[in-house]
Amino acid sequence: MYTCGPTIYDYAHIGNFRTFIFEDILRRYLKFKGYSVTQVMNLTDVDDRTVKASRKEGIKLREYTERYAKAFFEDLDALNIERAEYYPRATEHIKEMTALVKKLIDNGYAYETAGSTYYDISKFTGYGKLSGVAASQQGIRVTADEYGKDEARDFALWKTWDEDDGEVFWETEVGKGRPGWHLECSAMSMKYLGETFDIHAGGVDLIFPHHENEIAQSEAATGKPFVKYWLHAEHLIVEGRKMSKSLGNFYTLRDLIQKGYDPTAIRYLLISAHYRDQLNFTFKGLDQASNTATRLNEFHTRLQEAQNSTTHNPTITTLTHKLLKNFDEAMDQDLNTPAALAALFEAVRDINKELDTGKYSRQDIQQATDTLNKVNTVLGILKPQAKPTTLEQEILQLIHAREDARKRKDWTTADKIRTQLQQKGIILEDTPQGVKWRIKR
Ligand SMILES: [Zn+2]
Repeated sequence: MYTCGPTIYDYAHIGNFRTFIFEDILRRYLKFKGYSVTQVMNLTDVDDRTVKASRKEGIKLREYTERYAKAFFEDLDALNIERAEYYPRATEHIKEMTALVKKLIDNGYAYETAGSTYYDISKFTGYGKLSGVAASQQGIRVTADEYGKDEARDFALWKTWDEDDGEVFWETEVGKGRPGWHLECSAMSMKYLGETFDIHAGGVDLIFPHHENEIAQSEAATGKPFVKYWLHAEHLIVEGRKMSKSLGNFYTLRDLIQKGYDPTAIRYLLISAHYRDQLNFTFKGLDQASNTATRLNEFHTRLQEAQNSTTHNPTITTLTHKLLKNFDEAMDQDLNTPAALAALFEAVRDINKELDTGKYSRQDIQQATDTLNKVNTVLGILKPQAKPTTLEQEILQLIHAREDARKRKDWTTADKIRTQLQQKGIILEDTPQGVKWRIKR
């Protein structure tokens, strides 16, 4: 699976993260279904924007992009996004890119003009097959990395050096200059995944021209189908309007964390709409998402702290099976996360009711916990809990043993265990909710 990554010229915004989280859900669900996944996500560290921004600041391109690469990985961790297997950088694949340009020239799909090399879209009969944009503007060139849908044009594969590039250039067999943005994804995806691979994903804004150009580059070079399945995440809008810096409704993940929001709630909100529907991000919605995520985490804690009664509750078994079935069905429908979340919260409500009755066994609790954890391997919205230390595990085992002794009315053993724990500095308290323990201060 190839997923177009960030251009590391600035912090990624929540619209970017909507796409990256959708891809994370896709990756996790494929694994949930038993597939093995090799994911590649590129880091664009040379293009019009990175060159311009680093020059403006007067520092080396690598130094500039490194700052945002580091921030990007911190953001991925905060949002509980699993790491891809490869994060290739454009600047480290110049050789692969120039080889691809040469091949396109040799195959008659590219031409050189004034030191730059352009892709001739009129030569590729399949041009427009992904986006539906017709290749009508023959012979008109565009040098910029990004351009609009009404401009299906010959695009730059290799840009000859000019003064604006400063120190950013490579001396190669296709001339002195730098790669066009679209080139890296063809070169790097084929390097790591082969000439034909299964899944390519990204945001809808990448369909044209970026993905259309990737297909044109790859298929003209190899003569083989490039990608089997394309998946695109819809736009995120903010409070009903397009997110933009000028409207003052532009948010990075860091902006939201600074406002006091928990990344778990942000992740929850970003998966609460289907990936092919537009998502309207609002602060009211984020507040609701915070409450919902908290409720789920409280349920998780309740399961962990549940004291065992001995009566098996078959309803809990039924409810966990129902959750897994509904979750599976929802996600099988093109990753229907809203339906999957609805199934989860229905189960939380119903299992909570069963816990209220006080009738359940240790196995029931284990089964509910396992099911919740299983669903969470895909959703990733439970806060990571600190693993119990060896000491904690030992204490809990002793507490269980004491409980069992008390149930057998074996008071001698129960007292012996209490003393044993006291010697470790552990105080037991019998409360109406069961036995609690604390460390003696
Ligand atoms: Zn790409």
